[in-house]
Amino acid sequence: MIRDPYKLEQLLAEVRQFIKEECIPCEREVDQADEIPSHIVARMRSLGLFGHSIPEAYGGGGLTSEELCLVNMEVSQAATAFRARFGGNTGIASESLVVDGTEEQKQHYLPRLASGEITGCFALTEPGAGSDATALKTTAVRRGGDYVLNGLKCYITNAPIADLFTVFARTDPESRGAHGISAFLIEKGTSGLAVSLPYRKMGQHGSPVGEVILTDCSVPASSIVGEMENQGFRTAMKALNKQRINLAALCIGPAIRLLDEMVSRAASRQQFGQNIAEFQMIQQMIAQSNIEIHAARALLMETARKRDAGADVTMEASMCKFFASEMCGRVADRAVQVFGGGGYIADNAAELFYRDVRLFRLYEGTSQIHLINIAKRTMATAHEPSGS
Ligand SMILES: Cc1cc2nc3c(=O)[nH]c(=O)nc-3n(C[C@H](O)[C@H](O)[C@H](O)COP(=O)(O)OP(=O)(O)OC[C@H]3O[C@@H](n4cnc5c(N)ncnc54)[C@H](O)[C@@H]3O)c2cc1C
Repeated sequence: MIRDPYKLEQLLAEVRQFIKEECIPCEREVDQADEIPSHIVARMRSLGLFGHSIPEAYGGGGLTSEELCLVNMEVSQAATAFRARFGGNTGIASESLVVDGTEEQKQHYLPRLASGEITGCFALTEPGAGSDATALKTTAVRRGGDYVLNGLKCYITNAPIADLFTVFARTDPESRGAHGISAFLIEKGTSGLAVSLPYRKMGQHGSPVGEVILTDCSVPASSIVGEMENQGFRTAMKALNKQRINLAALCIGPAIRLLDEMVSRAASRQQFGQNIAEFQMIQQMIAQSNIEIHAARALLMETARKRDAGADVTMEASMCKFFASEMCGRVADRAVQVFGGGGYIADNAAELFYRDVRLFRLYEGTSQIHLINIAKRTMATAHEPSGS
């Protein structure tokens, strides 16, 4: 749903200009320094990028799913680390609060997440609990009015720089699987909460990812999201459901950028006395990429509109995430091919994005996990009338 087309177009133009004029020119610097320059982060704050998905009542932009998809396809046309800097706040790191937080929790944290004053992170994964997140072992034991947490979270985006951690821990020791898990809001500086140094990664340099270590970390019971004990996994799934739509848009932006890069390279690189764009096998890679970008965008926008209309889009969100992330991987591979040997040398977007976008097929549900979800839902609804 687009509330005000004129206002949205202004927002998109502003974001497009920021990405093109300020982020893309310093992509290599960010890749090498493994850090987003502070003046760029300040600009992200002033543009309101940290709060697009947070309701207006708490200082955010209150964008609908459809609007957010359009913005996300713009912001992700620069190297992925830029979007990752604010993407947690306007996605997975605020969404648990948005969907299930108490009014007091929302008032306390959301305005500061929306402005970018604080950075949030979402800490679900553990060394023994990845695709099967319900196998998590972090414990939260009640002691009077407090909970004491112990455990280790790994691969957490923005953990090394986060001020607010949404940590999922088992509050019912007798429970198994998705039951008995609660979501805790823990602030940086809380005794017993520590973070590791950022990992060295294949790509997405400038987006710090690390571990969260909980050692007798004591927090009041009021830190549980919504003060709803044992409901944390449902909260996580609600947040991830929306995030899958966001992520699909964030896979389409890089593919659009890579297609542009492919076309320019093909139009300027000469071999056998002509531009390589004249060769039909190069044209095939360009055409296939454009078709797949169009298909991903069509699926995404339809899903976003259905979500805005109140439909349950759990299966469609998985389809969007699967299709867009796999599509982006194929486009990145073709971009390197069109660049030839140059595509393997670290001086162009094809090389940079090829490394960056590999992550999309792994996090927020691997491709295999999404296929399983889609298959289950397809089989469960096989005899329902189409369109349901
Ligand atoms: C850079 C980065 C950032 C991340 N950010 C966050 C974050 O902010 N917060 C957070 O909580 N997590 C985060 N993650 C974790 C991410 O969500 C997990 O890595 C992902 O869920 C996969 O889990 P795993 O790595 O343990 O792989 P595994 O679950 O061990 O999977 C290994 C392989 O087995 C396959 N597999 C597993 N189960 C099945 C099955 N049933 N059928 C078929 N195949 C299967 C998988 O598809 C995969 O190919 C991040 C990860 C990375 C790398």
